[in-house]
Amino acid sequence: MSNLHELYQEILLEHNNKPRNYRKMEDANRQADGYNPLCGDQITLYLKLEDDVIADVAFQGVGCAISRASASMLTQSIKGETLAKAEEIFNGFHALITDPDADVDNDLLGDLEMLSGVSAFPTRIKCAVLAWHTLNAAIEGTGDSVTTE
Ligand code: ZN
Repeated sequence: MSNLHELYQEILLEHNNKPRNYRKMEDANRQADGYNPLCGDQITLYLKLEDDVIADVAFQGVGCAISRASASMLTQSIKGETLAKAEEIFNGFHALITDPDADVDNDLLGDLEMLSGVSAFPTRIKCAVLAWHTLNAAIEGTGDSVTTE
């Protein structure tokens, strides 16, 4: 399991200890909760949408290193982007973590590329996509909690 160990180390160092945009956003106009029962990861995602631009994004949550690091990287990658661009990033990220041979644009993904190793650990994919499912729920504004099941 040395690869998983290395994966953890990289992510822990980069994002888990100092998650980006980790706070409650008081003036958010969208919000959603996500839960991954398989691992126990919980996340609340806050958005400030201005027309079709993600003006601000923040999260809070408890869970494993992968779920927290993925959420941190998500906020970093979509802040200031349009909804269309955020969807493009998600599609690239999803391809990356589910298919190691996927042809994805590295410039598009940035730090998210560090999570590519989870493709070898199917149970961890849900940890990595939790923040993204929660983002989609927040954008859709249903107000419901989402789970990865
Ligand atoms: Zn997890």
